Amino acid sequence: MAAQLKIGIIGGGYAGMAAAVELACHGHRVTVLESAKQLGGRARGVEYNGVMLDNGQHILLGCYKNTLGMIEKTGGNIAEDFQRLPLQLTIHKHFELKAAHLPAPLHLLAGFMNAKGLSWKSRFAAARFMLAMRSIKFNIIKDIPAIELLHQYNQDEALIRFLWEPVCISALNTPLAKSSAQVLLNVLRDSLNGSRADSEMLLPKLDFTSLFPQRAARFIEQHGSQVLLSHTVEAIIPEVNKITLETSHREFSFDKVICAASPASAVRLLQPFPQLQETAAQIAAIDYQPIYTVYLQYPENVKLPQVMLGLDRSISQWVFDKGQLAGQKGLLAVVISAEGHHQELTQEQLADQVIRELKDQLGILTSALWHKVIAEKRATFACVPNMQRPSTIPPIPNLMLAGDFTEGDYPATLEGAVISGINCANAIQLAFQA
Ligand SMILES: Cc1cc2nc3c(=O)[nH]c(=O)nc-3n(C[C@H](O)[C@H](O)[C@H](O)COP(=O)(O)OP(=O)(O)OC[C@H]3O[C@@H](n4cnc5c(N)ncnc54)[C@H](O)[C@@H]3O)c2cc1C
Repeated sequence: MAAQLKIGIIGGGYAGMAAAVELACHGHRVTVLESAKQLGGRARGVEYNGVMLDNGQHILLGCYKNTLGMIEKTGGNIAEDFQRLPLQLTIHKHFELKAAHLPAPLHLLAGFMNAKGLSWKSRFAAARFMLAMRSIKFNIIKDIPAIELLHQYNQDEALIRFLWEPVCISALNTPLAKSSAQVLLNVLRDSLNGSRADSEMLLPKLDFTSLFPQRAARFIEQHGSQVLLSHTVEAIIPEVNKITLETSHREFSFDKVICAASPASAVRLLQPFPQLQETAAQIAAIDYQPIYTVYLQYPENVKLPQVMLGLDRSISQWVFDKGQLAGQKGLLAVVISAEGHHQELTQEQLADQVIRELKDQLGILTSALWHKVIAEKRATFACVPNMQRPSTIPPIPNLMLAGDFTEGDYPATLEGAVISGINCANAIQLAFQA
């Protein structure tokens, strides 16, 4: 297919690579400029001690149709790349919710009725809450903190502690008291309220750079486009009918540019333009939440009772068994999402604490052979009520904005990032065809 537009994309994370794939499919000539030595951004593979890790254990949901679609489009195979688990939330020795083998929404309602660790009163309260949210199509008139919404619908302490708090922290990476009720409802609408397949959890068997961005790079190269690593964009220079990007190496000139850099970088790049003051101010106002992942390599015989297990009243929130997941025997990934007292600990203290919790709660008495703490202090935006998120179409001709923080229904997720990239690509294609 003949090349049509020359398009520059700043950033090779999930948003930038999704935009690149979509545009390459339309025959445009795309150049992705990525400042790091590898693709993936906040969802990237990290090698440590000869073992492939991620910068944080990620999980996808069956309802992440755009991300899954992109993985397949670029040569992935969802059945082979992921371990697909029916919705199952287990807080070790305290709580278990399993979706039943029934059509939606009965799968979830039956799941509530059979949940272990809840009184009958709590089970009915959870079912009533979901039915009430269905009746209002998961839309509230005024956004409020998620905890207030749960209290309004009589969700008791056990339900909040074992179900809603873990769900909210995992999905929004923001404590319940600060989270947007509306965004939580958007996630519940598409996952728990969707089909059984939508509510399934997909745990990747390969690292997050290999899963999509690397495949996307090969895909776009086969379509006559290119990816340049270690190319930091230092300035955007809009000119008549073209737009120039100044990088650490040289200048590039394009018909259109999509800025798919992280929010902090996007602010720096957009701030010089008077027309973009409002957009830059919206991005600058974003507050962040951390995610810590503690990887622990135990001897190969150490195994969890199931692939993913929650822990109650501990710093460790979720433990993943990478042996059962990806054949990395004895490797556990412990995830600690959102802000908390754990941030006051040094990495050594945090690893010690996590090791103690695994010993006390799961009976893992053997010493870890090594550990690695990965602290992503700005892992995601804090998903607070009534957040003003910037539009993907800022008021400068030929420049668009992609990334998980741009306007949309979802919290900071791979799906939000991919959707924003696809939206930018579609808008460019639509204008091109007009
Ligand atoms: C530890 C952790 C766990 C997570 N868990 C989950 C999960 O389970 N499920 C889920 O859906 N989401 C999860 N997320 C969120 C998810 O990773 C992000 O929402 C998503 O990766 C964001 O993608 P993005 O493309 O918008 O931004 P980014 O990934 O930040 O990509 C931006 C890219 O731009 C590059 N860049 C920045 N500035 C420049 C510049 N000036 N020039 C060139 N390149 C530049 C960066 O290097 C980066 O590669 C998690 C995030 C973290 C950190």
